Amino acid sequence: MVVVMRLDASEVQISLVNEVLTSHGFGAHLIKGTNRIVIGAVGEERQLLSELGLEGMAGVEKVVPIMKPYKLVSREAHAQSTVIQVKDAAIGGQDIILIAGPCAIESYDQVLSAAQRCRAAGATVLRGGAYKPRTSPYSFQGMEKKGLEILQQVGKETGLATVTEVIDYESLQEASNYVDIVQIGARNMQNFRLLQAVGQSKKPVILKRGLSATIEEWLMAAEYIMASGNLQVILCERGIRTFETYTRNTLDLSAVPLIKELTHLPILIDPSHATGSARLVGSMSKAAIAAGADGLLIEVHPNPCKALCDGPQSLDPDAFAYLSKQLQRVASAVDRGFPTVTTAEL
Ligand code: PEP
Ligand code: MN
Repeated sequence: MVVVMRLDASEVQISLVNEVLTSHGFGAHLIKGTNRIVIGAVGEERQLLSELGLEGMAGVEKVVPIMKPYKLVSREAHAQSTVIQVKDAAIGGQDIILIAGPCAIESYDQVLSAAQRCRAAGATVLRGGAYKPRTSPYSFQGMEKKGLEILQQVGKETGLATVTEVIDYESLQEASNYVDIVQIGARNMQNFRLLQAVGQSKKPVILKRGLSATIEEWLMAAEYIMASGNLQVILCERGIRTFETYTRNTLDLSAVPLIKELTHLPILIDPSHATGSARLVGSMSKAAIAAGADGLLIEVHPNPCKALCDGPQSLDPDAFAYLSKQLQRVASAVDRGFPTVTTAEL
């Protein structure tokens, strides 16, 4: 259920509605659009309508029941698309955003070199894993705190915003001191305690779709974060498990228009984990922008052959710069802006 406030609703009227909701045990979440405020109310809907008399309260325009299991995430709750501003990146806005960088942080030189080249090619957010959830316990597990220090340092030097994956409560607490955005990986999409903890933090969060998650399960995971108080959720489709073995996962591009219809949250595509192959990243990136994605999350390593993690799917900086030039043209064909690319013509 959402309570849509009138355009001229005063602060006092908004807080009175809030008070009525919370005093009856409902969760009340203020969602601020450009010109009006709606209050997402989570609780027993029939009681809300009949007993609270919200529709008669001053400043209230209408009360809209939401039938979907996800409420705050739903486009019914918030017709306008959400834009999440992180430093220079307006995620979900008119411009396509590029998030790029290595799968794992390996050294200061590696991250700096990737960051400088990615920035020149239009990236505004630098990615780098400090805690790596690996299938094998014998694989490289990440540099943890040392890696976060590197990411923060390079972020400062290049002016890029930063994102890293968190895998549990402790890593969330630690990473929150170093990065601008936290990421919940595919393997943790239904780690409900972690979702709630991220919900209580103030950091924007990239929520990746689980390997075998339906779109509804994914949106319910986003609802956990929002219901816990954090409205800055960015969805990221990174491929799902199917019977196909020629690609690492199967990129579900139909998720993009569906997500746009069902929710107001931004949606990114990660073509690197979706395909597992650097050869396929370019085509899928172009298709993602054409399909309406708000941005891309792409693994870029200064020397993919030497990468400690996900080398085969990582682009080298030249390939990323070349791709970025092509993406600029696709973006313009679908009326989206694109960041400035300063890399020389390749
Ligand atoms: C990653 O972004 O490095 C990662 C591990 O992604 P995913 O959770 O999609 O596998
Ligand atoms: Mn990776």
